[in-house]
Amino acid sequence: MTNIHGIVWVITGILIAGTSAYLGKLMAFLIIGVGFIVFGSYKMLVAYMTKPKETALNKTHEGIVSSSPQSKYCSQCGAGSHPKANFCIRCGAKL
Ligand SMILES: [Zn+2]
Repeated sequence: MTNIHGIVWVITGILIAGTSAYLGKLMAFLIIGVGFIVFGSYKMLVAYMTKPKETALNKTHEGIVSSSPQSKYCSQCGAGSHPKANFCIRCGAKL
């Protein structure tokens, strides 16, 4: 049940509710159809709410990776230098 996508529930709900509304009877099926639509919408909302979290986590992870070269310090004198510098600006040691 958890593997079924929210849109499937919504489409099924529309079909059930639409059929019962078209026939002009079977109120129970109309309610079930609306229930399917609500459930499907909820599932899609949950999927939408959980997705940006993963993206934010990935962004944070990328941020850590990209920021790490900035903390490049000379092993000889400990001076901080430009991330793309190959030699220490203070003592000239190879980084
Ligand atoms: Zn140095």
